[in-house]
Amino acid sequence: MSTIEKYESVIGLEIHAQLLTVSKMFCRCPNRFGSLPNTQICPICTAQPGALPVINKKAVELGVRAAIALNCQTHLESIFARKNYYYPDLPKGYQITQYEQPFCTKGEVFVRFKNGDEKRIGITRIHFEEDAGKSNHESYGTLVNLNRSGVPLIEIVSEPDMRTAHEAGQYLRTIRGILRYADICDGNMEEGNFRCDANISVRLKGTEKFGTRVELKNINSFRFVEKAIEYEVQRQVLAVEDGEKIIQQTRSWNSAKNITEVMREKENAHDYRYFPEPDLPSLVISVEWLDKIRAEMPELPKQAAERFKKSFELSDYDAAVLTSSKEMAQYFEKVVAESKNGKSSANWVMNELLGRLNAVGKEIESSPVTAGQLSELIVKIDSGQISGKIAKTVFEEMFATGKDASSIITEKGFVQISDPAALENAIRKVIESHPSQTAEYRAGKIKLLGFFVGQVMKETQGQANPALLNELVKKLLDQ
Ligand SMILES: [Zn+2]
Repeated sequence: MSTIEKYESVIGLEIHAQLLTVSKMFCRCPNRFGSLPNTQICPICTAQPGALPVINKKAVELGVRAAIALNCQTHLESIFARKNYYYPDLPKGYQITQYEQPFCTKGEVFVRFKNGDEKRIGITRIHFEEDAGKSNHESYGTLVNLNRSGVPLIEIVSEPDMRTAHEAGQYLRTIRGILRYADICDGNMEEGNFRCDANISVRLKGTEKFGTRVELKNINSFRFVEKAIEYEVQRQVLAVEDGEKIIQQTRSWNSAKNITEVMREKENAHDYRYFPEPDLPSLVISVEWLDKIRAEMPELPKQAAERFKKSFELSDYDAAVLTSSKEMAQYFEKVVAESKNGKSSANWVMNELLGRLNAVGKEIESSPVTAGQLSELIVKIDSGQISGKIAKTVFEEMFATGKDASSIITEKGFVQISDPAALENAIRKVIESHPSQTAEYRAGKIKLLGFFVGQVMKETQGQANPALLNELVKKLLDQ
């Protein structure tokens, strides 16, 4: 057993998700990304003296929606708290968050893996929070942009239930999928609308006691999540093996050097001097409102996956992939609706399209092949116009150029040969040029049939209609 295999990592994630509201958490400034710096601010989100916060009802509704989607307990009364710290992009000198009484606790989510396995990950709590502004460090100094100050967030804190970087990555993808599906958060990591910190410790396998944990920040892309966690686990194992003591600290991922670096020695909760926010009343959610939000819940990925599984005979994993985002599910449903072939649609999306999209780093919403174009291709295969083999070549061209299947087929002369006379000619030629195989076949070695079919396929550049070809080869050989 290698050194690293003697250890087990214990990972918990804290996810910050910006809510898809029109306005900010405690004022009416727009919640929008990408505007000119400091154009979406007011006395409240810039902390002018005397300005008072007012809770955004829509933000609360979206938070409760997340609580329901993650099978949590929603508390009818919760309180906001001040988390005190100083930073130039936090003009109040504190952040309004929830501490001792969050609006939501004790949830769970089920994460699906490629081999079909499913794992339960516990959710400790979800609480509301406001985002801070942004500091842009330039060569001549630091610029503060307060457009993001006061943008509504939920923080989803998981139990330390994950044991590998891959599990953490899949958990993050699952949560992102659910939040996007239910229109709670757009999940955009590049713009910082969906962020994650990881708490990581290691311990010898078989031991119960947790090791000292390190908080890993700034994992701002899916590409880095697993890499960053893997690196940190390895660093801790090597340190422990060397007899070093793991220090409780906050580290950040340096994606240029592919290492984690110390940001600061870990502060403890009491350093933030939390206390109840005196400017806000308790957050009260009525039973009627909770019921209404529950009744209006949109379909969630798990429900869509069940529906797909039943309607199209898909495996658990395939159904999970095809419902990993709303856009993916909508794309797939459109292909099926037009091609009327669920099984084949699933195969084309899963095996041909997603692999290519992954390779070029694109999401389904920017696929060069539209759902309509893919269904057209499937219809052409099903109607016998082109063979499955040629369809793959056509698809490759569609992906590269964005052109329709029909124009590629015409341009390249890819039409399937379904004319019996033309096929018979090609078959006769093959039979004449392979006298010994023909004799063997006729003497009873019927498995040579495949050889003849293959030869004619080659002769016709794969354009022969396979079903008709099989039938004709057999007919002519048996004569
Ligand atoms: Zn404002």
